[in-house]
Amino acid sequence: MQLRWPKPAPWVLAPTPFPLQSADGPSQELAAASRVACSLGAEDHRIVRVDLDVLGGSALTADIEVPKARRREDIGEGVPITYVPARNTIFLAIALGWAEVLGSTDLFLGVNAVDYSGYPDCRPAFLQAFENLAQLATVAGAEDDKPLRIHAPLMKLSKQGIVERGLELGVDFALTHTCYDPVVRGAETLACGECDACHLRLEGFREANQTDPVPYVSGLN
Ligand SMILES: [Zn+2]
Repeated sequence: MQLRWPKPAPWVLAPTPFPLQSADGPSQELAAASRVACSLGAEDHRIVRVDLDVLGGSALTADIEVPKARRREDIGEGVPITYVPARNTIFLAIALGWAEVLGSTDLFLGVNAVDYSGYPDCRPAFLQAFENLAQLATVAGAEDDKPLRIHAPLMKLSKQGIVERGLELGVDFALTHTCYDPVVRGAETLACGECDACHLRLEGFREANQTDPVPYVSGLN
């Protein structure tokens, strides 16, 4: 999505890295991205069709079960099966292309290295390397000498810190979606409450002494 506040130059927020469709209809992540873009007053929200299911290799892009009810100490240990091969490289590349079209030099990505240290494309070294690539790969960087920056404001925050910072900034968490394996019941989408993403999200809200406003299958929140 493209935001223009508070800077005069547009900002590009890297896209929602999930399928456009699920077995139950349009992707919940995509619907949440549209809701959030709208609530932030984004000037534009583009949907780019990149079908990573063609490559597979992840519980999020292939017919592989999403791990459930893992112990807290096991989450973040090694690279989980929910890692999508080269996902953030692919999505940042698309965001970079749009940034260049818009004349933007600032890309934002919501990666978090603390809880998901197992994901190699969520680490500071990856973002630094991509920033160097962006500088060399674009006319803006290589010819016009404009500094291209990749911002990851959530990178070093704990899940508790993300909840607290979001609330400070007035984020409506009811519009957001985190679960890897949601259950759709009629018009309602329920978070499973058992995947790693749900565990970490619930832990963040609990530690921040807040109630997660999204509905869960078993009313865990
Ligand atoms: Zn879940």
